[in-house]
Amino acid sequence: MKTYDWIVVGGGITGAALAYELAIKGFSVLLLEQHASLQGATRYSYGGIAYWSGTTELTRQLCAEGIERHRILSEELDTDTQFRELDLILTIGTDDDPEKVAANYAEFAIPPRLLSVAEACEIEPLLNPDAIAAALTVRHGHIEPEKLTQGYTQAFRRAGGEVQIDRVVELLGTGSKIQGVKTATATYHAAKTVICAGAMSRQLLKAAEIPIRLYFTHTELIETPPIDVQLQTTVMPAEIKRFQLEAQATIPEHDRLWDEPDYEPVPPILDAGAIQFQDGSLRIGQISRVLTAPNAKIDAAQSEANLRAAVGKILPALENLPGKWHHCLVAFSSDRLPLVGALNNVDGAYLFSGFSNPLVFVPSLAKHFASWAAGQEDEVLTQLSPLQL
Ligand SMILES: Cc1cc2nc3c(=O)[nH]c(=O)nc-3n(C[C@H](O)[C@H](O)[C@H](O)COP(=O)(O)OP(=O)(O)OC[C@H]3O[C@@H](n4cnc5c(N)ncnc54)[C@H](O)[C@@H]3O)c2cc1C
Repeated sequence: MKTYDWIVVGGGITGAALAYELAIKGFSVLLLEQHASLQGATRYSYGGIAYWSGTTELTRQLCAEGIERHRILSEELDTDTQFRELDLILTIGTDDDPEKVAANYAEFAIPPRLLSVAEACEIEPLLNPDAIAAALTVRHGHIEPEKLTQGYTQAFRRAGGEVQIDRVVELLGTGSKIQGVKTATATYHAAKTVICAGAMSRQLLKAAEIPIRLYFTHTELIETPPIDVQLQTTVMPAEIKRFQLEAQATIPEHDRLWDEPDYEPVPPILDAGAIQFQDGSLRIGQISRVLTAPNAKIDAAQSEANLRAAVGKILPALENLPGKWHHCLVAFSSDRLPLVGALNNVDGAYLFSGFSNPLVFVPSLAKHFASWAAGQEDEVLTQLSPLQL
């Protein structure tokens, strides 16, 4: 019977990055992903790297380390992550006070600059000048999340890591000791198992009687094929409602209801924005819903119409582009910080999930995790530990 040093469950960006960092530290690692091609949050992500957005010593450090990693990852992984930097435009609605909105960004490591409507439209000619009172702008990183994930996975294999396409149905062991995982057809043993299954991490841990304050949104977007329209920037609202939704959905009175099978703690939100990838395709979004059932039914036609109407107000040229509605689940935590490290009173089980804006953090945090796994003390991980329940 083979016993791996580490099993990594989930091959999205979190699992792929962590598996790679563990493998290059010399651990024997098995990465288990249920789908042969990605279908989770990483597949539909905008790919934005918000390296300007650190507000505390910890998040500023992680942002600075994260952007440094992104700048060299294409070379290190021998792949093209399509890393680039572009302008982010944060739109301010006509009902909002631009100075007040700008003040909310003053604490960021690189505070975005306030633009008049004319200045914003010069940077992003597709903006509707009548729909905004002003905008903020800052340089923003961008990668193709699927390419970065593939790059990590391929580099992981080259470092001796093994990948199995198989669905983990349960963790092996009891609530106090986890010794690997079971799939429908096989049992895999490991000294340590780390859950990187995004939104599905909660269910896997719950089935093993490991409670965790990890939640998920149902996120909806429209993806277009490569198209002639030229969006110069990433466009998002300055007042991102998703963060409010995440905070409200995890207050104590809602928290205990997350184990109910069919519950919607707070109404859905829509943050109107768009990004164009280097191949010319666009992702336009996004609606976020908190429905406790991972497979809850969503009215796709109604959602698509709402998305098109909301984005059409800000970026009229995008409203009627050909494109397809998609839906996926995105994990988040109760305090916008990821949950990374050992789990309460459980030997052999670890978590690396719950990132609200993971793409800037994951590359450096995966490195921190691997160093810590190799025995080094790590101040960063101590601050992100999921132990405090
Ligand atoms: C529309 C949209 C826009 C976004 N924009 C940004 C952005 O600009 N910047 C940013 O930083 N973040 C953004 N995000 C968030 C970010 O993309 C996600 O949080 C991130 O990709 C999540 O990665 P993950 O590895 O945790 O999850 P996932 O990508 O969902 O990966 C989890 C993997 O685990 C696998 N899995 C689950 N259960 C099992 C099981 N039982 N057995 C085996 N495998 C299993 C799944 O198949 C999946 O591949 C966006 C997300 C969306 C949807």
